[in-house]
Amino acid sequence: MDLHQSCILVVDDNESVRELLHMLLEARGHRVALAKNGQEALEIMTQSVIDLVLLDIMMPVMDGYDVLRWMRAKPELSSKPVVVLTALNDTDSIIKCIELGADDYLFKPINRAILMARVDASVEKKRLRDVEHKHIMELAILQQIDRELNASLDLGEVARITLGWAMRQTGSRSGLIGLLDDGKLTVLHAEGAVYMAQELVPVSALGVHVVPNGRLQETILPPSEQVTAGFDHRLVVSIHREKVISCLMMLENQGAFAPDSIGFLSRLRDHAAIALANAQLHLTAQEANRAKSDFISFVSHELKTPIAIIRNYAELMGAGKSGPLNEKQGRFLENIRANAVRMKELVSDLDDISRIEAGRLRLNFEKVSLGIVLDEVIKSIEQQIIYKQQHVHTELDVDLPLIQADHFRLSQILTNLLSNANKYAPEQSNIYVRATVVPYHDTTALQIEVEDAGMGIREADKHHIFKQFFRSADQDVRAIVGTGLGLNIAKRLVELHEGEIWFESEYGVGTTFYFTIPAAQTAVSMQLTSIA
Ligand code: ADP
Repeated sequence: MDLHQSCILVVDDNESVRELLHMLLEARGHRVALAKNGQEALEIMTQSVIDLVLLDIMMPVMDGYDVLRWMRAKPELSSKPVVVLTALNDTDSIIKCIELGADDYLFKPINRAILMARVDASVEKKRLRDVEHKHIMELAILQQIDRELNASLDLGEVARITLGWAMRQTGSRSGLIGLLDDGKLTVLHAEGAVYMAQELVPVSALGVHVVPNGRLQETILPPSEQVTAGFDHRLVVSIHREKVISCLMMLENQGAFAPDSIGFLSRLRDHAAIALANAQLHLTAQEANRAKSDFISFVSHELKTPIAIIRNYAELMGAGKSGPLNEKQGRFLENIRANAVRMKELVSDLDDISRIEAGRLRLNFEKVSLGIVLDEVIKSIEQQIIYKQQHVHTELDVDLPLIQADHFRLSQILTNLLSNANKYAPEQSNIYVRATVVPYHDTTALQIEVEDAGMGIREADKHHIFKQFFRSADQDVRAIVGTGLGLNIAKRLVELHEGEIWFESEYGVGTTFYFTIPAAQTAVSMQLTSIA
């Protein structure tokens, strides 16, 4: 059996027994401590790390039972293996000791072969228990690391957490972690090192030889190669993404790293690799999104003027300013005008989305009366309502408080919801707009609802309804002109007002959209926060 040298405490009041055990155990390669009673044993166990106790029962000053009781009461000693030394036929004592936590027993006079077998077994059991304990502790640490890593998608933060744990667990005092690309390292985070975050460092300058198979290397550095003076041991950890080294972590230490460090770091890197890859993907997605927003913003800006010109000229010609028109020309021009208006709306929606996504949409908060905004909105879509012979009923609670909102954006939200009710409900149907005061978080809000008796929303469509460009595949919906942007914008605008939006709908029966806008005091403080 491969036995590591252990420290064994022999507790016996009989000097010849102590001497015999001392001699036998030392010959077996163990270190031995001797105590002639329980009291001395306690003192030794308090001062030094003992792996196994061979314990006599009947002793003056303090007997074996009391030693066992004392050990069981101490968390750090309660799992130490104890082999009781007892006289043959003393079954009662053996049972009592086992009840008090002893692991095994040996009869006196000591049989050498049995002694060695018991000691070896106990020492091995203790070693396995220690290994298990260490694994459990490491597992707990890795779980904690996962929790911290999973809480962030920010690349710099994930790098900071990874390096922090690597340095703490290996006791190293200097380190850095960075993205590897084409032989150069972009430092994401560094501690105690001469390099700084965001610095671009050629890997050759670090004296790092990257091992493609991912083995961790510990290098001993001569003073000329030390990145940080005095740090003469270096560990390089390569972190892989799809079999390619994407990141490098370098740890430096004064003196050799503890042997356990390598095992821990190779497990840490597997956990960090996933979090670093996710953070990199997140960054790429953010950059792509920003590029998309910039493109939309550019295109919508460039299209605004030509669309306005087309519309203006169509209106001028339609009004006969360029000479008389026949009936067909008049119809064609009206078609051009109507489509220019649609294009203007689409471009303006796209512009809003790109500004909201880029955080560039500024709300102009003021005290607003919902009743006034609603009247303006109903008037602006009057033609569409009359065209379908629908009736809009407004049922607003009396004494509705003013709300602190952006007048223009509030009317945009209401216009989107009301024109959807108009579009997706049949001719001659009723549309209801209601507003009530409701408790909202710690304060109050206006809850506004727009109800129609229209085609309703299919179950399968319900969780897509606020997504950009979503339009139902329903043939009846497709027959109606739309872009799938209105509800997405309405949702984002409501959220910019710190409100919420939701809906209830039954297919074939009708739909009600609800949204809340916090009442004035909350909105005022919200405005103050945004100015600050
Ligand atoms: P658009 O109306 O331009 O298609 P919206 O973002 O306003 O875009 O609406 C997205 C989709 O939600 C619509 O295409 C339709 O399928 C559904 N929808 C919206 N409002 C209603 C409503 N009141 N009744 C039924 N379906 C609706």
